[in-house]
Amino acid sequence: MALYHGPRCKLCRREGVKLMLRGERCASEKCAMERRPFPPGLRTTKRRRTSTEYNTQLREKQKLRRIYGVLERQFARYFDVASKAAGVTGERLLQILELRLDNVVYRLGFAPSRSCARQLVTHNHFLVNGKKVTVPNYELKAGDVVQVCDSSKTIETIHSALKNARDIPDWLSVDKVKLEGTVVRVPDRASMPVNVQEQLVVELYSR
Ligand code: SF4
Repeated sequence: MALYHGPRCKLCRREGVKLMLRGERCASEKCAMERRPFPPGLRTTKRRRTSTEYNTQLREKQKLRRIYGVLERQFARYFDVASKAAGVTGERLLQILELRLDNVVYRLGFAPSRSCARQLVTHNHFLVNGKKVTVPNYELKAGDVVQVCDSSKTIETIHSALKNARDIPDWLSVDKVKLEGTVVRVPDRASMPVNVQEQLVVELYSR
């Protein structure tokens, strides 16, 4: 499984926004966007490039891809599926990304970041509807139940993430005692807290 292994804070600095890729560090004063809020390689907040329409669309796509930790080829596949599905392509694309198992584990508060959630999933710590699933991009649907395996219920990372968990979106429900969560419904755009203009991504792929 291909993964980005480079410095994640650089990705935020490149996009000029906090992509929240490193869990608790992102909310602390150690965040690189607090200390050096300019693109890597530059010493000021001034950008070298003038912004073109294409560049704006490209940056929005990169931002979305990086938030969910998805590489180029898979992202293009997701777009392909979204564009063939009924409904609004941009919203469907976000739904596909949000319903990935690693994202749901993160949203449920079982992991401090999506990359940590991905690692927990691949290391065999979660069940979906009672069956072990180790594929981070497994697509969940309404009604699916995600549980921490019995043998993994003592993992400190999961408990400390739950303690510091953000608000759980209304399309998910979580039982912090049983360490399980349910996908109550497929999220609509208003309940997906992603600060991205997905329409620009659709325009980029429609060129
Ligand atoms: Fe981005 Fe988090 Fe690094 Fe801050 S700490 S730059 S939000 S990854």
